[in-house]
Amino acid sequence: VPYLVALLVITIALDINFAAFILFLATVLAMGLPFSRASSKSRSRAPKPPSEESIARLLAVKRKQIIARHGGLLQDQVAQNHVKNVGERLTLAAGLSAGSVSFSILSCPEPRAMALPPSIVMITTGIYRTLRSESELAAIFAHEVGHIAANTWSIDCRRRTNCKQHQAGRCHRNRQCREYQADQLAVTYLAKAGYNRNALVSFL
Ligand SMILES: [Zn+2]
Ligand SMILES: [Zn+2]
Repeated sequence: VPYLVALLVITIALDINFAAFILFLATVLAMGLPFSRASSKSRSRAPKPPSEESIARLLAVKRKQIIARHGGLLQDQVAQNHVKNVGERLTLAAGLSAGSVSFSILSCPEPRAMALPPSIVMITTGIYRTLRSESELAAIFAHEVGHIAANTWSIDCRRRTNCKQHQAGRCHRNRQCREYQADQLAVTYLAKAGYNRNALVSFL
């Protein structure tokens, strides 16, 4: 288990997407099989692949670490309800089921917006306190919901670049691609939810 946690930490650090992570995990386990067989002759049982529950548990641990590192949840129910309400509008605009994505504010001055597996969107007070309009909040959430809908992760959505491959129809699914894709989706969601899509440009 410490090995898997280390793997997870590395994966999140590299910010690779969820599907690639599962594939990577499966590959590592498959490669590890002959070694573990050779080293433990007394045991005939092959190691089981990680269950969905064990992966979920590891993700929960990682999530707790990220929340703790960013000052924990902001103790302001009005603000937390505000982001939940705006987030819910974008969730529905993305065609995801009501309440399926969670939105919260972390008490951290560093401006951060993130989308974590399975369906968790968090922003810091460093972003929330500087917003000039609800449209700007909606624009950030639309981008994060874009990550969730596309099944990609990001622990830091501040840095933005266009993806030339994506524009040419050859997405490589690298970090730039994922950010670009989330922005593309965000434009659609904002329009559907009735928010000013220019907020996306004005904020990010
Ligand atoms: Zn992003
Ligand atoms: Zn791309």
